[in-house]
Amino acid sequence: MSRTIESFNRLSMHMRTAARRLGAAIAALSLLAWESQARPVVDRPANLSTALVYHPDYLLHDPGPGHPERRERLQAIMAHLEATGLLEQLVRIEPKAAEERWIETVHSRAHLQRLRDAAAVAPYAFDADTVVSAHSYRAARLATGGMLAAIDAVMGSRARNAFVAARPPGHHALPDRAMGFCLINHIAIAARYAQRQHAVERLLIVDWDVHHGNGTQAIFYSDPSVLYFSVHQSPHYPGTGSSLETGEGAGVGTTVNVPLPIGTSDDAIVHVFEQRLVPAANAFEPQLVLITAGFDAHRDDPLAGFELTEAGYQAMTRIVMDVAARHASGRVVSLLEGGYALDALARSVAAHVRTLMTHGAID
Ligand SMILES: [Zn+2]
Repeated sequence: MSRTIESFNRLSMHMRTAARRLGAAIAALSLLAWESQARPVVDRPANLSTALVYHPDYLLHDPGPGHPERRERLQAIMAHLEATGLLEQLVRIEPKAAEERWIETVHSRAHLQRLRDAAAVAPYAFDADTVVSAHSYRAARLATGGMLAAIDAVMGSRARNAFVAARPPGHHALPDRAMGFCLINHIAIAARYAQRQHAVERLLIVDWDVHHGNGTQAIFYSDPSVLYFSVHQSPHYPGTGSSLETGEGAGVGTTVNVPLPIGTSDDAIVHVFEQRLVPAANAFEPQLVLITAGFDAHRDDPLAGFELTEAGYQAMTRIVMDVAARHASGRVVSLLEGGYALDALARSVAAHVRTLMTHGAID
């Protein structure tokens, strides 16, 4: 009998131990559950670096002698990033060419066939401004691939934000037409990729190139999942971007155009960002922010008449980063578009990238 009690006590002790362990396990589980509720899946380490996406074959696109969108633009940017010591602090990513299935989320098959055919008979002019060489289609696919790699980096934990130093540019490209130096609309494809590959529902595209991004606007004009915000010189190429163009159908209100006059200054554009971009973005709550980062609004640029300086690009970058910090866990992917005065371009990109690296960073 005493042995029975003894074994009962032993059993009871084991059960109590087991129960304690189970209780601890349940407590641990619920702690995890509580933690995962407290920290949404979009959160990530605060001390991540800025990524720089670049491929040497971006230099292969050659629109011909005297064309402002020339390979020297990227060479000047890379040389200046190296000289300023920024390059060695960046996470370097060398992308692959984007698969055509991703390009076809935005562009028609006929358009891709024309790009391939044009490469075969290069040099070929789609219009007076938009000329391709034998390797232009490859360079353009690599530029799109650069955006997709950057999206992967910031949606994962490889980078806090990213700058894609690519060419040819993209924001004038329409689903079925190359124009304005642009063959493929990289940022639009990147938006589709982020939505399909990373389950991002709402994106903000901020377009501060001095020209209106008619291609990007057209692609998302009736799409309420992408807020397109553009500041640009008006009147100017390509002639679109009136403040009356606000979207259509389900997309009404998710296109915001702020046309600005020749001579627009840093202060004026910062005011527009604070008064127009910030409230629109706060209402929209984007989960990812993309920048169509043209630097042709610089006062030295030969193709337009704005008066921006490096300080203006820094200020715009900070405002966009604050929006992303508030709604998108800091996720920003910025793509080089215009910018044709080599020194001003290199300095402005460095100011932009330095801000991406340092603003709001945890020491
Ligand atoms: Zn431009």
